[in-house]
Amino acid sequence: MNEFEQHLGEQLAEIRESNLYRQLRRVDSAQSTRIQIVGREILNFSSNDYLGLANHPALKAAAIQAVERYGAGAGASRLICGSLEPHHELEEALAGFKKTEAALTFATGYVAAMGAICSLVGKEDIIVIDKLVHASIVDAAKLSGAKLRVFAHNDLDDLEKILKWAELNSRTTNHASRPLVVTESVFSMDGDHAPLRDIVEMKEKYGAWLMVDEAHATGLYGANRRGLAEEVGISEQIEVQMGTLGKALGAAGGYICGSRKLIDYLVNRARSLIFSTAPVAAAVAAATAGIELVRSPEGESRRNTLWQNVSKMKSKLDLKTSAGPSAIIPLLIGDEAKAMEVAATLFEKDILIPAVRYPSVARGKARLRLTVSAAHTVDEIEQLAAALHPWLAEFRNAISQNEPAGQT
Ligand SMILES: *Cc1c(COP(=O)(O)O)cnc(C)c1O
Repeated sequence: MNEFEQHLGEQLAEIRESNLYRQLRRVDSAQSTRIQIVGREILNFSSNDYLGLANHPALKAAAIQAVERYGAGAGASRLICGSLEPHHELEEALAGFKKTEAALTFATGYVAAMGAICSLVGKEDIIVIDKLVHASIVDAAKLSGAKLRVFAHNDLDDLEKILKWAELNSRTTNHASRPLVVTESVFSMDGDHAPLRDIVEMKEKYGAWLMVDEAHATGLYGANRRGLAEEVGISEQIEVQMGTLGKALGAAGGYICGSRKLIDYLVNRARSLIFSTAPVAAAVAAATAGIELVRSPEGESRRNTLWQNVSKMKSKLDLKTSAGPSAIIPLLIGDEAKAMEVAATLFEKDILIPAVRYPSVARGKARLRLTVSAAHTVDEIEQLAAALHPWLAEFRNAISQNEPAGQT
């Protein structure tokens, strides 16, 4: 064996020994509450397709039509000749949906975070993030080269301490730009909510800028289903609104919504937009259809069904979980090996809820990340509750010993 292979082999052995080894699971069907894996029909409680739109006829028809008209590939980056009509239609739909002046779409949410954060802050600047924000934000913050400060999860006192320090720092260095505070609205691993109103108040007090990632809230909260910022009435105070098109919206991609100037600036500066081939028309058109659907009466009715399903699931499990309603129900276990074992036992019963482990959450805070969809039936929810029954006491015990836990 050559040295390279030997090195990789040793690294992999280490990952296995820590019970952190991961493997791709091949799915032979469309995304749905029932999916085909290794020739079996599996009841799926693991997807982020919260409204059941990923396989919706309207999204599929939009994608097919876009392929017929604009082809399979976009041909070049947005700034060369890849900025197709469907991209512009999606951005108009996004701005209309989120009620912002403008919007910009990216190939994924991950690269939207990269593009926005790395253009907004650099070596001279300060970025302040919640301890449990998604890896895309952590990675972007590191790549930006800005001074990175992390506040304890949803801890306003800690955030204030950091903003006070930043204020002093900018006075001594005579630096004009403001610290950028970044949080999620609904956290991806625990489903708990950020105290957005208080965060807005604090960032205004200290003259900081705010970016909010609504990946798990877009389509689900607020009178117009724009997200949690709409629900708590602070959308207009957020400088940078981020989200993804691949979760409740049922397609793929990421977005930044905000002022016309913000979008013009990102078009000029966001490297993940500038140096990357434009998203394919099919994905973009499906996302536009997803937005239209979410805004329609059907979107409202799917959202209501989702919340009914969430309450049904929670009352069946009788678990005291995160504050605030969310389609994400973390079943905390703690130990990685134990979490793998529970997930494997469920899979034997044709149920998929994968064990989420480090580095997606902190070490020793492994859990099953159960997600509920509007597409689940009452029968499916009852079937899951029955299958989870043997471990309920264990989950309750782990919850009582653990604070919300996420990425380190
Ligand atoms: C999924 C997710 C992203 C990344 O979005 P993709 O479109 O999947 O790349 C960003 N932020 C959060 C909070 C997410 O959950």
